[in-house]
Amino acid sequence: MSYKLFIPGPVAVSEKTFRAMTQPLIGHRSTDFVALYNSLQPGLQAIAGTKDPVYLSTSSAWGVMEGSIRNVVKKKVLCCMNGAFSDKWLDVAQRCGKPAAALKFPWGQPVDPAALRRELETGGYDALTLIHNETSCGCMSDLAAIMAVVREFPEVITIVDTVSSLSAQPIPKDELRIDVLVSGSQKAFALPPGLSFLSVSARALARAATVPDRGYYFDFVEFQKNHENGMTPSTPSIAHIYGLQSQLGVFAAEGLEARYARHARLNQTVRAWALAKGFRLFPREGYGSVTLNCLANTPGYDLPALNKILKAKHGLVIDGGYGKLKGTTLRISNMGDETDATIASLLASLDAALAETPRLPA
Ligand SMILES: *Cc1c(COP(=O)(O)O)cnc(C)c1O
Repeated sequence: MSYKLFIPGPVAVSEKTFRAMTQPLIGHRSTDFVALYNSLQPGLQAIAGTKDPVYLSTSSAWGVMEGSIRNVVKKKVLCCMNGAFSDKWLDVAQRCGKPAAALKFPWGQPVDPAALRRELETGGYDALTLIHNETSCGCMSDLAAIMAVVREFPEVITIVDTVSSLSAQPIPKDELRIDVLVSGSQKAFALPPGLSFLSVSARALARAATVPDRGYYFDFVEFQKNHENGMTPSTPSIAHIYGLQSQLGVFAAEGLEARYARHARLNQTVRAWALAKGFRLFPREGYGSVTLNCLANTPGYDLPALNKILKAKHGLVIDGGYGKLKGTTLRISNMGDETDATIASLLASLDAALAETPRLPA
């Protein structure tokens, strides 16, 4: 059975992208590959707001998230935590054997720049992890305000996860002086999961060169060495790279500004619909994500029943809440290739499905 995903990753992949991915393979050390790899750089750099290379990693985003920890943390990393993915990053840092500390905010609350300054002032940190858009609770922190604080601490190398925001909103990496930017393919890029993006500043690369036990697969120095030859350290998923080439063409045809505007508009369309239905936005006012809406289940719908109806009668799937928010929130994605028409159709289906969804006893 086939149905369309409106969960916040993976999201629906277009026929055009899938077709691009079925092109005959080429050798990853061939001149054809080098030409393909190099041709993608300008598009990726424009999206990431950087003059630094954008490396391609055949892994899910966690690969480069963990890799970043192993490459830049020497003394101690501060992990900003306000949802499931950012909470997990602390655990991952500890599993890598790195000294790590938590700066915690309740799920749905943005990272507070003033609290961050107070913690960095205690000293001892040489790295920071931050999730721009906490997909688990639909909360987008103020990246510019946070980076303004971090720049006061020149020893701190910043690792910023833009997994569910890159290509949906401008991320001016160089202007904000983000050191390490990581992202993934299956969110706003609307590619299948399995590819991730990594852009590393010169000073982060210099730090990496001095850090022992970086391993091989996610070694920044290896990525850079191979990048200089238009290649990846090991055999990449060439099919994904064909898909990426196709999507970058689609992005360019639409124009990045129009793409950003479309994400903002569709996000507001879903939000207005949800508020009219009696849902409340879960994250703090003013910090809602532009790529999804995480809604508090204030009307008390039976969310598993809702998804059953949506899937069986309308051929689509939304998310019934992540981790500890399961059942009490729902998440609806508007990222990737969605249009006014596909979102209108989604909302019509949701209207029909909600009308027959039971409510839980109060
Ligand atoms: C989806 C997601 C991840 C995890 O990505 P994987 O590709 O599953 O490794 C990390 N961070 C954020 C913000 C995400 O949305």
